[in-house]
Amino acid sequence: MKTTNKVMGMLWVSLYSFLVLTPLIILIAGPKFIGRPALLDLSVSLAFVGLAIMALQFILTARIKEINSPFGTDIVYYFHRQIGIAAFLLVFSHPILLFILDSRYLRFLNVFSSSLRYQLGVGAVLLLIGIVWMAEYRQKLKIPYWFWKLWHGIFASVMIPLALYHIFTGGNYIDLPWKKGLWIVYSILFILTVLYTRVIYPLRLIKNPYRIKQVKQERGGVWTITMEPVNHKGFQFMPGQFAWITAWKTPFSDSEHPFTIASSSEEKNSYQMSIKNLGKFTAKIQTLKPGDKVFVDGPYGYFSMDRYPETVRLCLIAGGIGITPIMSILRSMADRNDQRPVMFFCCNQEWEPLTFREEVEDLQKRLNMKVIFTIERPPQDWKGEKGFLNSSILNKYLTPEWKSGKTEVFLCGPTPMMNAVEKALLASGLPESQIHTERFALA
Ligand SMILES: Cc1cc2nc3c(=O)[nH]c(=O)nc-3n(C[C@H](O)[C@H](O)[C@H](O)COP(=O)(O)OP(=O)(O)OC[C@H]3O[C@@H](n4cnc5c(N)ncnc54)[C@H](O)[C@@H]3O)c2cc1C
Repeated sequence: MKTTNKVMGMLWVSLYSFLVLTPLIILIAGPKFIGRPALLDLSVSLAFVGLAIMALQFILTARIKEINSPFGTDIVYYFHRQIGIAAFLLVFSHPILLFILDSRYLRFLNVFSSSLRYQLGVGAVLLLIGIVWMAEYRQKLKIPYWFWKLWHGIFASVMIPLALYHIFTGGNYIDLPWKKGLWIVYSILFILTVLYTRVIYPLRLIKNPYRIKQVKQERGGVWTITMEPVNHKGFQFMPGQFAWITAWKTPFSDSEHPFTIASSSEEKNSYQMSIKNLGKFTAKIQTLKPGDKVFVDGPYGYFSMDRYPETVRLCLIAGGIGITPIMSILRSMADRNDQRPVMFFCCNQEWEPLTFREEVEDLQKRLNMKVIFTIERPPQDWKGEKGFLNSSILNKYLTPEWKSGKTEVFLCGPTPMMNAVEKALLASGLPESQIHTERFALA
């Protein structure tokens, strides 16, 4: 991480911790009510912290570059997920502690007889249970991603106003103007983020559309689309970065998907994405036609050798469709006549469907690159490496100079492969700080 990024990272973490913990500090440091049970105070403080976290959750996924930059988009999304679970536990502990304190609180669960304040409080907790349950069990229950995303957003957008109403009508816990002021700040932050992500950002994308120039079939069930900006300059990107694309709908539909920009960063006003059919959206990519309008939001991501200009050698590792960011790196290096040594472990289940294999072989002529094709189920006459990429294959090619501080490793592939290879790289002596990964799963 560069020093400026480190400083920014520390600043964001401090600001986030301050915003999240302030309700707790105020409750502890503020005036006490004589005779109020400590368990009641604890129950309210935990709920306040939980709700402060929830109110800030939208900011984490708003893809604000300044916030994502020090950490990386995947880390911010991962944090959003984990801190969401923590917020749920904090909020959920609020009624549980109240019931432990006094069983008469149970009567508020009866939404037919309780007041609006408690009806909305119960509603907020139920919605929060729904959010966490769907996020945890989405894959097991085979809930389609788009369906989950839609309801995740709706539940969260409704849950927060319900909980805020519950707080604003919460008697002496926010009786003083400055305590109310704090919750007004959270409410404003929440409204502004929703406004930014749901209205301002989509409008900006609509003003700068892209047009499909070409749709091409590749090996391995992959389709490459080439896009060009319509009446605007497009954007500059670093090799290995990704962008979000919306097709067939407007950006207001919140139905965009992330894909690596696989083309060379040296190509101006032209962007390629190579997309494997893995579900509803990706299956339709081949139906796009030249001239079709799409919306592209990018670039994002930090998986790029351009972030490490001092590096002397590059070790690239790709599995399956994880080859796309590596292709962008290789194509850009070739266009820049970058002759730094490259060791490329190119892995696939089979040889025939290996996407871009001819181009990778051609690129060897333009680059100072050694390619090690590693095939899980190779053809009979196969002379290259076989099976999964493991320590013994890595150690065979990564001589001590490749394990020095001057090598940066870029790894992208299916999650099980990445976990295994990351472990093998660490075991073979490569420092963690030099291993960079891109996971094709943000949620
Ligand atoms: C940074 C990044 C770069 C990627 N680059 C490529 C690439 O170059 N080529 C390629 O083929 N694939 C790439 N992917 C994966 C691609 O985004 C998914 O395969 C695609 O979105 C699946 O959508 P679907 O509707 O076809 O399938 P679904 O069955 O709906 O989804 C399959 C899985 O893909 C993920 N996914 C689906 N939709 C979204 C979404 N809107 N946002 C985030 N994740 C989603 C979810 O984990 C989901 O479980 C990349 C993913 C990420 C995060």
